[in-house]
Amino acid sequence: MKTISKRAILCFTLAIILLIGTGYFLTQYFTKGSSWASFSANSHLYTNGVLKSGTLLDRNGEILASASDGVWHYNDSQSVRKAVLHTVGIPDGKIATGAITKFAARLTGYNFITGAKHIGTEGNRLYLTIDSDICKTAYEAMGSYKGTVGVYNYETGEILCLISTPTFDPANPPTIDPDNSLYEGVYMNRFYSSSFIPGSTFKLVTLNAALEEIPGIQSMTFNCPGSIEIGGKTITCTGTHGDISLETALNVSCNCAFAQIADMLGGETLSEYTEKTGLTDSYSVNGIKTKASSFGFETDSQGDIAWGGVGQGSDLVNPCSMMIYMGAIAQEGKSAIPQIILKSTLSGGLKTSFYIKNRTGTLINSETAKTITAFMKSNVINTYGESKFPGLDIYGKTGTAQVDSSNTSNSWFTGFIKNENAPYAFVVYAEGGGSGVKTAAAIANKVLQKAVSKASEASAEN
Ligand SMILES: [Zn+2]
Repeated sequence: MKTISKRAILCFTLAIILLIGTGYFLTQYFTKGSSWASFSANSHLYTNGVLKSGTLLDRNGEILASASDGVWHYNDSQSVRKAVLHTVGIPDGKIATGAITKFAARLTGYNFITGAKHIGTEGNRLYLTIDSDICKTAYEAMGSYKGTVGVYNYETGEILCLISTPTFDPANPPTIDPDNSLYEGVYMNRFYSSSFIPGSTFKLVTLNAALEEIPGIQSMTFNCPGSIEIGGKTITCTGTHGDISLETALNVSCNCAFAQIADMLGGETLSEYTEKTGLTDSYSVNGIKTKASSFGFETDSQGDIAWGGVGQGSDLVNPCSMMIYMGAIAQEGKSAIPQIILKSTLSGGLKTSFYIKNRTGTLINSETAKTITAFMKSNVINTYGESKFPGLDIYGKTGTAQVDSSNTSNSWFTGFIKNENAPYAFVVYAEGGGSGVKTAAAIANKVLQKAVSKASEASAEN
């Protein structure tokens, strides 16, 4: 009897191990199957390391790139090719966030049931959310600046415009010398994978914290004598603003006022709000991980915290996470998580995937969002000038970020528009662009005008 029960225990143990092993395999298969299949040595999908088949299209069905037997062809327009380079990618995989690399399995038609074996020569049609026309407008508006432009629908998450510069023409790729500053970080998608000193755009986060943590902040008066000392550091302002309210402090982007507010809040509270607003999150855009923003509020000295509250110092902000925060302000709480894939179909047109909206958690309290929205509108009316954005119901904040002691500064403009057909949040970042109002806001206007006119055309058709 003893031997039998021992054997039974052994069999039972083996059965449990087998069950756990099968469960583990299935989990791995469903979560990682597509990346196993898209491994570049898989001859079903690749010819000499180049993805064999698939067609990438924009939201309107414009072909961005397509492959047949390992040969890739691109859009006819050179401007479009350059504008969508970082979204489309290149066959050698150097642009890690490009669709050719990131969505290889979806492009070729891999699925969990039949694997990669049934794949024909044409592959699947993968529709991206971007509008190549809007991307082209953004690329042309950006001129020679390095940086990024992102526009997305904060209700649905669809990214309509995403460009990263410098860029190049994938149909005629240049020889890229890594020491040539013209091509600095050319393979990097600055929208997803970089973080930059935010300059005054960060004052929105300091404002957010102040509205919730400092009772009576809206009836306080701040004094700007042009520069102030905090914790042994001199905080300089761009002007001498005198006695000003909180709203005026944001309108004129007063460093002295925001440094005083940051000092009242303290590093721990500011750190808490960088998390609450979602800036320190790494988002997943259809599996493309964004870089988390980073700050030094927990360890910085009192003077550096004051500079941090102004948007300088140790602050580094990822453009995509800033855009999402703008979407949350617009919607008074939560926003959509951006997505770059609209749908995929078989070459015959049968849909193989559907668009499912994903939302963030609550990034801002609704009352705070209402106040910030009103302040962002008064920035436009009182400082930037509504005439710079004809026809747009726009809410924004500029930033002119100082980089070390050099004279060049980087230009930011971020915010959102309210429009039934075009509920869009945006971020523009131009390295060396100088004044945020002069450079980034002008780029944003061109891109948004295009985006809004395309949205009203689309709504008229429906
Ligand atoms: Zn000032």
